[in-house]
Amino acid sequence: MRVIVIGGGPAGCAAAYTLRKQGHDVRVFEASDCVGGRTKQLKRGGYNLGTGALFLMGGLYPRTSALLKEMGCDKKLVPWKGASQLMDNDNSRYPVNFVALQSYLSIPRLTLGDRLKIIFAGIKLFLSPGAKNAFDGHELAKYETGENLEEWARKNLGERGYEYIVRPIMDFLYAVPCSWLSLPFPLAVIQQAMKMSLSVPPGGIGQVSDWFIEHSPGVQMHLNSRVERVEANGKGYKVTAKGEAYEADGLVVATESFVAADLLKDFISQPTAQKLKSTPYTEYAHVAIGYDKNPWPNFPADIVMPVGYGEKRNVGAIVLHSRRHPGAVPPGAECVGVYFHTPPLANLSDEDVKREAVEIAIKAFGSAPEPSFVHLFRYDNGLTIAKPGHYKTLDSVHAEMPKGIVLAGDYFSQAGVEAAVFSGEEAALKLTSAPG
Ligand SMILES: Cc1cc2nc3c(=O)[nH]c(=O)nc-3n(C[C@H](O)[C@H](O)[C@H](O)COP(=O)(O)OP(=O)(O)OC[C@H]3O[C@@H](n4cnc5c(N)ncnc54)[C@H](O)[C@@H]3O)c2cc1C
Repeated sequence: MRVIVIGGGPAGCAAAYTLRKQGHDVRVFEASDCVGGRTKQLKRGGYNLGTGALFLMGGLYPRTSALLKEMGCDKKLVPWKGASQLMDNDNSRYPVNFVALQSYLSIPRLTLGDRLKIIFAGIKLFLSPGAKNAFDGHELAKYETGENLEEWARKNLGERGYEYIVRPIMDFLYAVPCSWLSLPFPLAVIQQAMKMSLSVPPGGIGQVSDWFIEHSPGVQMHLNSRVERVEANGKGYKVTAKGEAYEADGLVVATESFVAADLLKDFISQPTAQKLKSTPYTEYAHVAIGYDKNPWPNFPADIVMPVGYGEKRNVGAIVLHSRRHPGAVPPGAECVGVYFHTPPLANLSDEDVKREAVEIAIKAFGSAPEPSFVHLFRYDNGLTIAKPGHYKTLDSVHAEMPKGIVLAGDYFSQAGVEAAVFSGEEAALKLTSAPG
């Protein structure tokens, strides 16, 4: 079968890898100059900056882990322990391990009553059914009740459990208020939290997509090739990029959902296009601050997460990149990543974001000389956010696709490399197993 994959993020690359493994004739069209999408790396001086994604989450990423193992790349991953500190309003510090939820129970702000309530809720949750893969949109749709994470957490974990455990973790991971987030995904993550371990490929997260393509011999890559048009062509399709037309028997469309809606407008109904276009992608900003000489080589944690009871705050986490990804910095240097919360961005200029990033890095880790560079990454469409009802709406879109076209992308569940890889592999399998 001749298949064209549109989009070379982790979803498109996983689809291409799966299709080549089955022996199909595969072309990948990617708009930018390299694969990786929102996981791409940016080389700047001797630094290797992540433009988006930071880490893989081990057992919580079952399909990514399985495919990396199949390619022999799992052993190359560099583990990261993610030692963290919560930084309270009065600058008190509470050491926790980002990966070990039980470590949050030692936060001195929690009372004995809070701890018992949280443990009880954890046991109850552990015994209840939930999605097996937290990034499988179809599974998540089955558990969707319309409830949001903030309601659930305040009710089941108490106010302090919400403020000191759930809110800081989600502020870092998803950068939006917990009231915006549908419940099945975070519950599935908590239920499987013991499977979580953090790691980063030696070349940064963008290397996951590179590995898929390197292990897809014969795949035909078209970089800098934005697909402009998709048309019907007999039983198949014609795809136009850079003025050239290419024919295929089937398509995997692995772009952002609003791009898919535009490219497929002649093939899908208005309501289906509307579902794709209304997928929320939120604004996102993070700042990389480089120091050619590391000002804090002995700081006792790798991540600082601001917390504070009921407090408004602009930043979700401040990360020492040399600890997360040693290949990110030249020898002896440091790079701080400051990850902003989405709502305040509406009122912050680029200069405000950069200034606040440098200030909070110093507050988090201690004084430092002028940085060697301050690089802002700011996106209108950074992360897909699953509001209550999201999974059911998006899951229904698959059944509404015309024959020979399948969609892939993290937007079917919750932003994350696993969501993309899972959907890319699934799309490839669905396309090639459809009856003639
Ligand atoms: C700041 C940030 C931090 C993150 N942190 C993490 C993390 O720590 N761990 C994690 O797992 N995930 C993280 N993510 C999420 C992760 O990056 C995404 O879930 C993942 O990249 C989604 O992959 P995708 O293939 O679905 O989409 P994308 O990565 O967006 O790829 C889509 C691709 O399609 C291409 N494209 C679009 N239109 C066209 C067209 N017309 N023709 C050809 N190509 C086209 C784009 O150029 C792009 O390369 C983070 C994201 C951001 C922004």
